[in-house]
Amino acid sequence: MASSPVDLCVYNARVVTPSGTVDGGVAAEDGEIVQVGTDRKLPDADREIDAEGNYLIPGFIDPHVHWGLSRYEFEYHEGLEHDFETETRGAVHGGVTTVVNFLLQPEPYTPDMDFFRRAGEEHSYIDFAYHAIIHKDHHFEEIDGLVDEGIRSFKIFFNWYKYASPELGIEHSDAGRVYDLLSQVADVPGGVVMFHAENEDLADRRRQEFQAEGRNDLEAWCESAPNICEAMQIEQIGRMTEMTDSRAYIVHMSTGEGVDICKQFQDRGVNLHSETLPAFLTHTKDEADLGVWGKISPPLRGEWSKKRLWEGLREGTVEYMGTDHCPHKKPFKEKEEGKFGDVWDAIPGDNNGIEYFLPVMMSEGVNKNRISMERLVEVCCENNARRWGLYPRKGALVEGSDADMVIVDLEKSATVDEDFYHTMEPRYSSFHGWELQGLPTHTIVGGEVVVEDGELQVEKGGRNYLPRGPNGVPSR
Ligand SMILES: [Zn+2]
Repeated sequence: MASSPVDLCVYNARVVTPSGTVDGGVAAEDGEIVQVGTDRKLPDADREIDAEGNYLIPGFIDPHVHWGLSRYEFEYHEGLEHDFETETRGAVHGGVTTVVNFLLQPEPYTPDMDFFRRAGEEHSYIDFAYHAIIHKDHHFEEIDGLVDEGIRSFKIFFNWYKYASPELGIEHSDAGRVYDLLSQVADVPGGVVMFHAENEDLADRRRQEFQAEGRNDLEAWCESAPNICEAMQIEQIGRMTEMTDSRAYIVHMSTGEGVDICKQFQDRGVNLHSETLPAFLTHTKDEADLGVWGKISPPLRGEWSKKRLWEGLREGTVEYMGTDHCPHKKPFKEKEEGKFGDVWDAIPGDNNGIEYFLPVMMSEGVNKNRISMERLVEVCCENNARRWGLYPRKGALVEGSDADMVIVDLEKSATVDEDFYHTMEPRYSSFHGWELQGLPTHTIVGGEVVVEDGELQVEKGGRNYLPRGPNGVPSR
């Protein structure tokens, strides 16, 4: 007697699994992976997809986005709902199937958790989790409450946002507050303190110097917060993490110095890890053509840092990647002054990261032999899932995991233009004009094909909030 067919089968693929790449496919039933193996072992399925020999990988996880930033047009909560819809629509086109968003508001978070859950459940195209940005005194008091709600990572602005971007309403923190947070989180199983590592005392002084000299170009923005701004902060964070026996994670690490410092602390057994962004692996500060679109924070660096970050990724010092996707409308980003307007006025942050994440890493990483497909999947899927307590539900193609997967055609290419993105604001990103090779052909979320050959197949919503377990661990 033949057993009844499963929901979905992808076959004729090069399947990237934690134990190696195998020729075959994956079967899914009720949203979960029920089999990984050679084609002849796969069961019959209602829907069968021929991967045509392309790679089948877990969907990427983006652990660093800021939904709700379009709140310059909307209130924060309305903006959060809005961005879940528009930006995760881009995510599925780009091959990202899980997102961890930073919550940021001056009010306490716990009273609004029902809303935060519902916002994603009703508007997102992918499953989602949260980090919380801790910047008011009362936020420090709700750590235990947030842990109960499934949030175990807490970002702090250590001597940053003292002067810049007052419109964000973020309170910066000194070493005393950092010590408090590291100490509290040391006792949270799977808990992590996340750091934007830049010293703004130094950066602010240099901004004033450059402005007095009449400098107004991307390189001036970048050099106003030079590599040492990041290096001196990571050094302090590492020492305080060691002192408190806590766990620290440097978001968007941009410098070669950062890689070296992380390595020194890791060699001593300190739990200090880092994430980098596609932009820091591909752009440098002397690309004047980027104009204000290249204004990000921390800023773009030189060739040496770019090279050292790739080495860090390969050798295992840098274990994580994200995008720092900040959804801003173009006129807002440019402050109505165009791409080459005032660099000091323009809003920092790159747009569309969650959609260019996978294509840029395939194009600039795998296709240019800077990183293997297996290591890339480890960093962007498995490590990101482990760190945030989502593994093995997310981040791997193994039996029992959610059937979130992407078929990647390494030959397929596209030019990044206004038709490339599917988000709120497709008109700009730091990759505008680039030709990217290595694109998804199918994105599957929970066993359901959500994008096929560039066409969206589903409606928004019906996705899951992922309360994070106590098993969040660094990858080593
Ligand atoms: Zn960020």
